[in-house]
Amino acid sequence: MVVSHTLGFPRVGKNRELKKALESFWAGRSDGASLHATAADLRRRHWKLQREAGIDLVPSNDFSLYDHVLDACALFGAVPARYGSRGGRVDLATYFAMARGTPGDGIAAMEMTKWFDTNYHYIVPEFSSRQEFRISSTKPFDEFEEAKALGIATKPVLLGPVSFLLLGKGLSPGVERRAALERLLPCYADVLTRLGSAGAEWAQLDEPCAVLDLPDEDRALFAAAYAGLAGARKAPRLLLATYFEGLRDNAGAVASLPVAALHLDLCRAPGQLGEVLPHLSPGTILSLGVIDGRNVWRADLEKALALLEEARGEVGADRVWVAPSCSLLHVPVDLDDEIGLDGELRSWLAFAKQKLAEVAALRRALAEGRAAAADAFEASARARESRGKSPRIHNLAVADRLAKVGDADARRRHPFAERTKAQAQRLGLPTFPTTTIGSFPQTPEVRSWRARWKKGELTTTQYEGLIEGEIRRTIEWQEQAGLDLLVHGEFERNDMVEYFGEQLAGFAFTQNGWVQSYGSRCVKPPILYGDVARPAPMTVRWSRFAQSAAKRPVKGMLTGPVTILQWSFVRDDQPRSRSAFQLALALRDEVADLERAGIPAIQVDEPAIREGLPLRRADRPAYLEWAVRAFRLATSGVADATQIHTHMCYSEFNEILEAIAAMDADVISVEASRSRMELLQGFERFRYPNEIGPGVYDIHSPRVPATEEIVSLLESAAKVLDPRQIWVNPDCGLKTRTWEEVKPALANLVAAAKKMRAAAPAG
Ligand code: GLN
Ligand code: ZN
Repeated sequence: MVVSHTLGFPRVGKNRELKKALESFWAGRSDGASLHATAADLRRRHWKLQREAGIDLVPSNDFSLYDHVLDACALFGAVPARYGSRGGRVDLATYFAMARGTPGDGIAAMEMTKWFDTNYHYIVPEFSSRQEFRISSTKPFDEFEEAKALGIATKPVLLGPVSFLLLGKGLSPGVERRAALERLLPCYADVLTRLGSAGAEWAQLDEPCAVLDLPDEDRALFAAAYAGLAGARKAPRLLLATYFEGLRDNAGAVASLPVAALHLDLCRAPGQLGEVLPHLSPGTILSLGVIDGRNVWRADLEKALALLEEARGEVGADRVWVAPSCSLLHVPVDLDDEIGLDGELRSWLAFAKQKLAEVAALRRALAEGRAAAADAFEASARARESRGKSPRIHNLAVADRLAKVGDADARRRHPFAERTKAQAQRLGLPTFPTTTIGSFPQTPEVRSWRARWKKGELTTTQYEGLIEGEIRRTIEWQEQAGLDLLVHGEFERNDMVEYFGEQLAGFAFTQNGWVQSYGSRCVKPPILYGDVARPAPMTVRWSRFAQSAAKRPVKGMLTGPVTILQWSFVRDDQPRSRSAFQLALALRDEVADLERAGIPAIQVDEPAIREGLPLRRADRPAYLEWAVRAFRLATSGVADATQIHTHMCYSEFNEILEAIAAMDADVISVEASRSRMELLQGFERFRYPNEIGPGVYDIHSPRVPATEEIVSLLESAAKVLDPRQIWVNPDCGLKTRTWEEVKPALANLVAAAKKMRAAAPAG
């Protein structure tokens, strides 16, 4: 029988009910019982929604109060010692302490990092080298029973044992991991036995690590783990789920495991079917992810059905299931509420709820023939056709311009060595020049102006007058503080991507298209649906005003093409690189306009360039090549004397240093203070050719760094970099800080730069 199922559903609720319940609980305004009640209500609604949409096998335990990896830590009792747990059941207080730390004197939270190549963040398990495991939570059992009481037999979802271990830190590869697995497996077997005894027919074990580059010893963990679990008494049948990439060289190790079903992501890797089939154990069911769980477009059902039929031809009708490519966690809940989007655009989209209907339609079509889902297939074909030729998407002028772009457009006129002389003359900067990353504090007052303006309570003239006042004060303060290259402060921006998306053709915005980023935090990515064009200058007005109010040079401030792409839902009807180049050309015009307005330095932020890196090493050079080219296209149109800056904020970029250098920005500012300049190790290996400001003020913390502390960071930088290369700046923008913190911190930063200058005079 063909079965339709999902791997997971968004947890937060279409009106962000969980966010509100969590934040009220954390603030002490409500108790655990009311948090649990909200959570149960969300689970019930989501189970029903899925059943009513025609999903045969609905997941449970995909819900989480904070994060599913943290849930696995709680389930298996992997609670770091500092939380003082005595080994019993992990209570709510301990759970949230692990997620968020405790206030005051404070026990630090566990580390958080990006979930593969998504914008979701998980809590990184912390293992000790002799980590013991014991079942310390009843969540999967409770939620299974909860659904059962509602008459729904669910498929419990667990993070698989191999991914659980590989995603954590503290275990060295090889013997240590292998031994930890041996200690962990009995717990997994117990959990499965309990679920089976409760009546679960299926359990889903998520093993996304199966799509990564794995050393042999890690790859071997799969065989050990699943051979171990195959013997669990009364266990449900296992569905091993992989997603976000193809199995590639892991196909042999994973497809032959003794599990009842294997899930493959055919949206990301449609070609992997052929690679996996030869390794598939006879009898293993193939769950095929043919509805994109990572993007918001209505599916091409014909194409999806063709893949399903191809698989059925190979393995037989009883061995094919239909599913989204991954958990629907990564898309918004419901398109029906988006009344602000016009009908045409809406007809091209599908959020989680609409994707359920697509999965169900494919199941019907596969089981009973296309005619059984005629309406859905027709709607899909219509959407495809209208998207294929809509003038809203296809802008001939943009295509034309892109076709004419040549290598010379992606190259500055002269090499850095010449540019830097022209810039030094124009900007007149000292050695160890000081600057900031762009934003200054977004006070409640500044935010209230924008809200009132949007509500119509302030006229545009009034609003702009207020912003200008804030810019003027910020410029004056920077001059008096002694900063060398000034910024306008970004007070007119709510978000560094939304601000540009709203002004570019080709973007749409939802009212409620929230996606969980971590814990209670959600983001609302713009939808990039069409060819990108810039109808009018976007930032020139503010930069020009700031420069007119300043005696010192002011730096213009833009968000780069790759970052805009990375933080949006993007087109699936053309390669990402093409969208990036279109964005780059729009930004190139903005750069040119800023230059024409007399702005002597322009920063194009690319904080997301590293997170766009493909999961597999083999795919990275191609990505870096177009990402770098997009940046260069955006920034290469200017004269030598116009200084191009870029900014990135994360510390692990040593592996892409060459690509960063290839961007050929005159100056780059990077996050470095939190890792105590760890990134500088990379510069011992690779000599960064242009100028660079390793961050010396951790803006994630309210702490004000002392002058001496900044000096010592700069001194370590000066050991691996030429002092003439070094800029002095914070790690990132200051918008989340208060003026009370920012003023003394920047005063110390300026003082530190002066000390450096005195110690190593120019020349
Ligand atoms: N210019 C931006 C700011 O200062 C950069 C933000 C970022 O890197 N995320 O806020
Ligand atoms: Zn940053």
